Amino acid sequence: MRRSRAPLERMDADLKKYDIWIVGAGYAGAVSARALAEKGKKVLVLERRDHIGGNAYDCLDGHGVLIHKYGPHIFHTNNRAVFDFLSRFTEWRRYQHRVIANVPRDNPEVVPAHKKTDGRFFFPVPFNLDSLKNAFGEREGGRLGEKLLAAYPAQSQVTILELRQNPDPEVAAIADYVYEHVFVHYTMKQWGQKPEEIDPSTTARVPVRLSRDDRYFQDAYQGMPLEGYTKMFERMLDHPNIEVRLGVDARPILKEAGGPVIYTGQVDELFGFQFGPLPYRTLDFRFETLPQDAFQTHGTVNYTVDQDFTRITEFKHLTGQELPRVTTIVKEYSRPYTGDPGEIPYYAIINPENNALYAKYKAEADKKPNLYLLGRLAEYKYYNMDAIAARALELAEGL
Ligand code: FAD
Ligand code: UDP
Repeated sequence: MRRSRAPLERMDADLKKYDIWIVGAGYAGAVSARALAEKGKKVLVLERRDHIGGNAYDCLDGHGVLIHKYGPHIFHTNNRAVFDFLSRFTEWRRYQHRVIANVPRDNPEVVPAHKKTDGRFFFPVPFNLDSLKNAFGEREGGRLGEKLLAAYPAQSQVTILELRQNPDPEVAAIADYVYEHVFVHYTMKQWGQKPEEIDPSTTARVPVRLSRDDRYFQDAYQGMPLEGYTKMFERMLDHPNIEVRLGVDARPILKEAGGPVIYTGQVDELFGFQFGPLPYRTLDFRFETLPQDAFQTHGTVNYTVDQDFTRITEFKHLTGQELPRVTTIVKEYSRPYTGDPGEIPYYAIINPENNALYAKYKAEADKKPNLYLLGRLAEYKYYNMDAIAARALELAEGL
């Protein structure tokens, strides 16, 4: 990968020599760049930030702890082709993400003594048969688990919205408990709306498990890039046919592109917000470094009932980094994206109205035969890393 910071006006002649321009060096940009370079295309990658990797970027913080600057990223997929492609650029640390909820105790008498700490208790998320026991005690929790299994004999999981439809009063009581203790407050913090008001596929990402499986993801391939995401991206972009230019906003110079452009940034911004801005949620990340070996028992602890932040992640659990007497955690605070300088649009807010607005921008893009929209921002979708890598491979194949 060649990187250059030469001013663009001095590179005008240069700009013409590429077969394809790619805007953005995150998953969408980097995966498609590599796939196209291997097909013999000369690729120019323009990235506005001063680093590659997009939101998956990781780096050492001031204390030597490997952190994810834009929030915790755990790789998981059932897509063998994506896993094989990425595995060419990294080895993997075997890691299965496990999450617990940390909630205030509201019925002290049924909480087993070993689960009690400072008036709070914990249970696995996604909520599973063991979570029921943590919440209702061994006997009653066990009985309610049997009840749930009988209600959904052919399923291994059920969404909270589905569970809330169940007419059986006891199942409905479980649904109420899970709604109150897992979903409603967390979703209000994350989206400013209730679970039933947001796109159902969002809460369906975290189902109620009709088993004791306490892994956050059940995909066949799960893990963390052994030396981090940024290293993986560096190797991916290291190809004689790829040139990466950092610190360049591509929009003002897009008209210089002679051939196809793959655009992975915000589509509303690309078209000057002419139909109005697409709504997003942004996050404030508060990183804290503590002089101790470890802060919490799990990679991520969700605060599903109280606190202003949604979750705390401790990076050393994810990365496996061994560092004595120092650890870094991050708290995530969600709020509406306003477009102020420095704010990052992290989550598209999927609903019919916003999808219709997106469709207007898409129609504009479709008028430009050489423009391809790809990625979480450009497609206004809630893509995981593997899904966008798969889309990028598909697009590169099709070009
Ligand atoms: P991005 O990573 O956003 O990359 C787009 C790039 O384009 C950026 O680097 C941006 O600077 C650049 N760009 C934009 N406009 C311009 C311009 N005009 N000129 C030049 N460059 C431009 N997925 C998982 O699978 N597992 C997880 O655990 C996970 N955790 C997540 C946690 C959080 C808090 C968030 C927000 C997302 C998480 N994701 C996770 C999703 C993951 O971040 C995305 O799937 C992935 O980053 C999408 O890649 P992308 O290339 O589409 O977008
Ligand atoms: N969710 C929740 N409580 C939890 C975890 C998730 O209510 O403890 C809901 C919430 O609406 C969240 C969605 O499920 O936005 C998806 O959660 P996920 O952890 O997949 O979100 P991400 O990691 O993408 O932010």
